[in-house]
Amino acid sequence: MNDLPEFRPGSVWLVGAGPGDPGLLTLLALHALENADVMVHDALVDARILARLRPGAAVEAMGKRGGRASPHQIDINQRLVELARQGKRVLRLKGGDPFVFGRGAEEALALADAGIPFRVVPGVTAGIGGLAYAGIPATARDCNSAVTFITGHGREGTLPVGIDWDGLARGAPVMVFYMALRQLDQVVARLLAAGRPPNEAVAVVSHAATPRQKVLETTLGEVVAAVAADRPEPPSLLVVGCVVGLRHRLDWWQPG
Ligand code: SAH
Repeated sequence: MNDLPEFRPGSVWLVGAGPGDPGLLTLLALHALENADVMVHDALVDARILARLRPGAAVEAMGKRGGRASPHQIDINQRLVELARQGKRVLRLKGGDPFVFGRGAEEALALADAGIPFRVVPGVTAGIGGLAYAGIPATARDCNSAVTFITGHGREGTLPVGIDWDGLARGAPVMVFYMALRQLDQVVARLLAAGRPPNEAVAVVSHAATPRQKVLETTLGEVVAAVAADRPEPPSLLVVGCVVGLRHRLDWWQPG
C-alpha cells in the first residue's frame, strides 16, 4: 500500500499487535513488520505475528510478564532510544493496544524526552476484541451504558492503590479486569464487600483470540473456587457484569 506513511530510519513505532489472531493486525502494524530493521517485542505477542517480520530484521524479546524474570522498564526505554540513535527503524510491538495497560505511555514519554521521533499504532485491546472472540460484547443495550477497564495489578505487584471499590460497585455495570488472576481473591472480596451480588455473572477469558482460548463462566461468589479448580492460564481477563449472560447466544468462535 503506497498511502501508508514511511517508516523512517531513526524512528520508533509503538505498535499494538492485537490480542492474538493475526487477522486483527492493522495495515499500519503489518507495514511496520514488513519494514522494520529491528523488532523489540513483548512476551504477549503471538508467534504467528512475529513470523510476519521482514526476513533479515533483528529481533529482541523484551517484555514484562507478571511473576517471571523480566527486563526493567527503564532498560527497555533505553534500548529503544539506543536503537533509534543507531539510525534503525525500530518496531516496538506490544500485545493488544500499546496505550492500554501496556506501559506504552512510559515508553513514548521516554522517546519524547530523548527527542526520538515516534508513531503510535493502536491495536485491538484484549478487553474489547479478545472478549468479542469469547462471545462477550463490551456493551449491549438493555445491559450496560458504560464499561470500565481496570488493572488488577499495581506497581508493587499488589492490588493497585486508589481504586474506589464502592464507587465501582455502584457506578460500573460492566468491569473488565486485566491482569486479575494473581489478585483475584482480593478483587472479588472487595466487589462483594462493596455490594455486588454473589450471583452476578462473571467470565474468565484466557488466551483470547488464540487457538488456546478458554472461557470459564461462573458467578462472582464462585469464581475464586472455580479458578482454583480449573487453573486458567495467563494471560486472562476477568469480566464482571450482565454482558457475560449474552455469551450463550453469541459464542460464535471455535478456537483451534
Ligand atoms: N496492552 C494489552 C494489555 C497488556 S496488560 C492490551 O491492550 O490488550 C496484560 C494483560 O492483558 C494480561 O494479564 C491479560 O489480562 C490481558 N490480555 C492480553 N492479551 C490477552 C489475551 N489474548 N487473552 C486474554 N487476556 C489478554
